[in-house]
Amino acid sequence: ASPTSTRGEAPPVVPDFEQAWDAAFEKARTFLQGFSLEEKVNVSTGVGWQNGRCVGNIPANEEKGFPGLCLEDSPLGVRFGDFVTAFPTGIHAASTWNRELIRLRGLLMGREHRGKGVNVALGPMMNMGRLAQGGRNWEGFGADPFLAGEAAYETILGLQHAGVQGCAKHYIGNEQEHKRTSTSSFIEDRTIHEIYAHPFMRSVMAGVASVMCSYNLINQTYACENDKTQNDILKREFGFRGYIMSDWQATMSTYGSVFSGLDMTMPGDITFNSGDSYFGGNLTTYVQNNTIPSNRVDDMAERIIAAWFLLHQDSPDYPSVNFNAFHIDDDATNERVDVQADHFRLVREMGRRGVVLLKNENSALPLTGSERSILIAGIDAAPQPGGPNQFGDQGGNEGILAMGWGSGTANFPYLISPYEAIQARARQNRSTLVDWDFMNFDLNTAMQRAARKDVAFVFVNSDSGEDYITVDGNEGDRKNLTSWHGGDALIRAVASVNPNTVVVVHSVGPLILEDWVEHPNVTAILWAGVSGQEAGNSLVDVLYGDYNPTGRLPYTIAKNMDDYNTQLLTAGDTNDMSHILSIPYNEELLIDYRWFDAKNITPRYEFGFGLSYTKFKYSGLSITALPSPLGGSSDETQAISRWESGKSTLIAEGSSTATWLHRPAFKVSFTLTNTGHVKGGEIPQLYLAHPSSEGEPPLVLKGFTNVDDLEVGEGREVVIYLSRHDVSVWDTEDQGWRRPKGDLADVGVVVGASSRDGRLRGHLPSL
Ligand code: BGC
Repeated sequence: ASPTSTRGEAPPVVPDFEQAWDAAFEKARTFLQGFSLEEKVNVSTGVGWQNGRCVGNIPANEEKGFPGLCLEDSPLGVRFGDFVTAFPTGIHAASTWNRELIRLRGLLMGREHRGKGVNVALGPMMNMGRLAQGGRNWEGFGADPFLAGEAAYETILGLQHAGVQGCAKHYIGNEQEHKRTSTSSFIEDRTIHEIYAHPFMRSVMAGVASVMCSYNLINQTYACENDKTQNDILKREFGFRGYIMSDWQATMSTYGSVFSGLDMTMPGDITFNSGDSYFGGNLTTYVQNNTIPSNRVDDMAERIIAAWFLLHQDSPDYPSVNFNAFHIDDDATNERVDVQADHFRLVREMGRRGVVLLKNENSALPLTGSERSILIAGIDAAPQPGGPNQFGDQGGNEGILAMGWGSGTANFPYLISPYEAIQARARQNRSTLVDWDFMNFDLNTAMQRAARKDVAFVFVNSDSGEDYITVDGNEGDRKNLTSWHGGDALIRAVASVNPNTVVVVHSVGPLILEDWVEHPNVTAILWAGVSGQEAGNSLVDVLYGDYNPTGRLPYTIAKNMDDYNTQLLTAGDTNDMSHILSIPYNEELLIDYRWFDAKNITPRYEFGFGLSYTKFKYSGLSITALPSPLGGSSDETQAISRWESGKSTLIAEGSSTATWLHRPAFKVSFTLTNTGHVKGGEIPQLYLAHPSSEGEPPLVLKGFTNVDDLEVGEGREVVIYLSRHDVSVWDTEDQGWRRPKGDLADVGVVVGASSRDGRLRGHLPSL
C-alpha cells in the first residue's frame, strides 16, 4: 500500500522487520531450551478469568526468568486503569485521515500501557463496518479496507515503538454483535483478501506481535480453529511470525485449534472461571499421547517468547504490572501510576481533526465570537449526572458521548462537555448571553429557549457497544439509526423557531438525517464523532474557527436505512450457541460506498465527504511509473517482471507482504490551491477505477494524504504513491495478486475531495 509524502522528498521506504524477528526467534529458542513440555504449554495458556491483575495473564516462570505477560484492553487506552488518558476512538482517528496523528496516538497509548506494566495492548481493532449498526464499529477504522489498513499500520508502528506488543483484532468476519459466538460468516476468498483480511496484512507489515481470532465461524469453521484463515492466509501467505491468541473464551477445542494455528488461549479457562482449559493439562496430554507433535508446542511457545524479545520486554527496565484491572480501589495492588503526561494535547488535536463539517449554509460557522446570545440544547451537550464513569465499561449514556461501550473503553480521567467548553469560550465576550436546556423531552421549553437566540445548538447522539451490555434495548448493535434521547424531535422543535439552528452529532456511526437535514433553519451540521476526554474543547476549536475542519467521513451516511445493502441478522437468543446463524456476505466487494456507487444510489453524505471553511482547487495531474531501485535482488527483478507480464504472485510464504509488491511504484502528483478566504487544510483522496472486466467496484480508495495549513492563495504540490499491490486484484484461481489484465492504462485514477467529488482524472501509465 501507499506510504504518502506531500513534501516532495524521496518515496518512503517500506520497513522490513524480518531481521528483527530472526534475532528474536534466536533468543527465544535459546531461552526455551530448558523448558519442560508443561512449562512450554504454560506459556500459551492464560491463568483463567480474573486470576491475575490484567484482563489476560500468562503466568510467570520465575525459575526460568520469565515474568509472565499482562494482556490488557483497549484500542483507545488502558482499560480499567486510573490516571490514564481516554484517547479518541478508532473511528474518530480514522475520520482524521491523518497518518502522522494516528501513529502518534498509537505511540502515546503504547507508552501508557507500558507505564502500567502491560505487555500486550489488545488493539487495534479492524472490523470492517460492514453493517452500519454494527455495535463495535466505533472501535475500528471505518468501512474501507485501505483506510482501515493504513490506520492499523500506523497504530501498530506507534504502539510497538513504545515497546508494547500490539494485537490486531478480531480476525475475522466478526461484523455484528448479535450472536457473535454462533454466527457463521460466509465470505468468499477474493472478498476475504481484498476487504476483511487487508488490514491484518498491513498489521503484519507493521511487525505486529499478535493477532486475536474472533468469536464467530468463518465459512462454517470457528475463527480460532480455522486452518484457512490462520495457517494459510495469516501465517503462510502474509508471513506472520507472531502468535495468534483467542478472543476471550473463543477457543472451542484443543486438537482442532492447535492444528489450525491457534497459539495462545485466553483468558485460559474454557468458560469464565470453569477451572479447566482446552490448553494447559489437556494440551500436555495430547502431546504425551502423540496426538499433537511436540514441535507444534515448541512453535507456539517460540512465537510468544519471540514477540516478547522483539519488543525488548525482557529488559530489566520493563515496568512490572502496577495496576489491578478488576480492583481499581485496592491500594495494595493498584499503585495509581500516572501515565498521562501531556497526552491530552494529542486528544484535543485529534479530536478537532476528526470533526466533520457536513453542512454550512450562509456561513453559519465559524462563530464570530460576537454573538449576542447562544442556546446549548440537548443532554448530549451536558456532563453526565453520575460522572464520566457513571456506567461500568461505559454501558449507558446520559450526557456527552465520547466513546461507545464494552471492552473497547477506558475510564475517563475527566471529560470536557460541550456545555462547559462552549460556555467558557463564549464568555470570553462578556456580553454574550449563554443559555442551556438539557430536558430533551420537554419540547415547549426548548422552543421557548431557542426563540430569539442568535444561534441555537442542538446536540444529539447515538451509542452502541459490545454484546455483553444492553443499553436501552440495544444489545450491542444499534437497533435503529435514529438519534437517542428523542434527538430528532428536539432538532425539529428548535429549528421550528430558530432560523440559525446548528446541529452537533456525537455518534458511533451513521444516522439517518432525512427528518431535518434539509430544514432551511438547520444552517449547519457538525459530525463531531466520538473523540475522547477533550470532546468539548475539540469541538469549540472548530466552532469558532480556531481550527478549519479537515475531518472526512470514514463511512457512508445513507438517506434510508434500506439503502444499505447489509442489515443486522437476528434470530433467537444471542447467547444460544446451539443454533448457528449463517451470515452470507453476498455483497462480496460491495460494502459501503462501493455498493452505493455500483447501484447508483445517492447517499446523503458520501464516504470521504467533509467541508472546510475555505475552498480548494486541484490542478495539474501527473502520473508516472517509478524506476525500480538499483541493486534489487534477482528474485525481486523476476517477481516484478512476472507481475508486469500479468502473472500472479507465486504461492510462497510471505508472498502477499513481499517488499517489491508494496514499494512505491507509481507517482501521482498534482497541485492543490487554497482558493477561498481563510487558511485551511485538505484531505485529497485517490480512487482507482478498474476496467469492468476485473469485477472490481466502480471506485476503490487506494491513496490519501493530509495537506495542512494552506494559506489563502497558496498552491502546493501533493504527491501520492501507489504500490503494485495497490493496483492489483486477488486472483482466486491462481491464489495470488496480479495486475489488471490488458493495458495498465485502462485503469483510471481519480483524485478528489471525496468518493463522489473527483476533481482530476487520469490513468496509470502503460507498461
Ligand atoms: C472482546 C475483546 C477483548 C476481550 C478482553 C472480548 O469480549 O471481544 O475485544 O479484548 O474481551 O476483554
